[in-house]
Amino acid sequence: MNVSFLGLGAIGAPMARHLAKPPFALTVWNRTTARATAFAAESGVHAAGSPADAARGAAVVITCLPTSREVEALIDGPDGLLAGLSDQSLMIDCTSGDPATSRRISTRLAERGISFMDAPVSGGVAGAQQGTLTVMCGGDAATLERARPVLEAFGKKIVLCGPVGAGDAVKAVNQALLGIHIWALSEGLVALSKGGVSPSLALDVINASSGRSNVSQNLFTERVITRAFPRTFKLALLEKDVTIAAEFARENRVPSPLTQVAADLLRVARGALGEDADHVETVKLLEQWAACEVTG
Ligand code: NDP
Repeated sequence: MNVSFLGLGAIGAPMARHLAKPPFALTVWNRTTARATAFAAESGVHAAGSPADAARGAAVVITCLPTSREVEALIDGPDGLLAGLSDQSLMIDCTSGDPATSRRISTRLAERGISFMDAPVSGGVAGAQQGTLTVMCGGDAATLERARPVLEAFGKKIVLCGPVGAGDAVKAVNQALLGIHIWALSEGLVALSKGGVSPSLALDVINASSGRSNVSQNLFTERVITRAFPRTFKLALLEKDVTIAAEFARENRVPSPLTQVAADLLRVARGALGEDADHVETVKLLEQWAACEVTG
């Protein structure tokens, strides 16, 4: 099966690596060409010169870019996806996108008989490397069955969440929970540190108690207490995700004060910590405010 993957970023590259072997014949494209040529050389696949070239002859095209805006911008023009995509092909967008833009892209492609599915993922870079991602799909059941062999290459739990945009919506709510947990645990551990309680001891207790979460069990234990702060998922992208969740709630006229505040707080953190900061570095802003580090 000829498959093309566009967007070899922190999560895209390890996802694409699973497709660089039979039964797939993989072509990659990346905005920064050097990244695509290095990936192609190391994986023995083909690097395309443009999105149109990548789409030409592909049964399935996968995109994994920062936001739906960048995906939509790849559609048109002489080098755009539509210039290369064949009728009856399938586009799977693994970007954590926004439902409204995904629906717009789907409608555009449908005019040419091209199927579309939003399929954002969760599980982080480690999950992408291990091929154990959760994939949240938006589309119809027949499209998912066409997409399944590709999704199974990097995904473990693959769920049809509803029509186009539903995968994006579920992913955004998941990310709001992640952002809220990071912020709340940061507040708690900074307060405990300042109050004289060892944060690693407090985490050990919380992880055996009802307040535990993936954030306390994995992220803070491995990245904050150790001060390792590896950069695997940008705070800028988490802020984008929680903003999508906040907008989704507003569009549906659902009061959601916590999600709205979380989006605002993460925007403040993004402004203070910069575009390259990892999402877990959010704790550093609360540490600055309290003049107290969560360590030891
Ligand atoms: P990165 O910032 O690491 O990579 C972004 C990718 O998009 C790069 O390939 C970049 O190309 C490309 N890109 C950026 N702007 C444009 C543009 N204007 N036109 C074309 N290509 C562009 O992001 P991630 O890989 O971390 O994230 C990608 C998506 O996956 C996001 O939606 C994110 O929310 C989601 N995600 C990320 C996870 C993670 O753990 N990192 C986990 C789950 C979901 P270039 O090399 O030229 O910069």
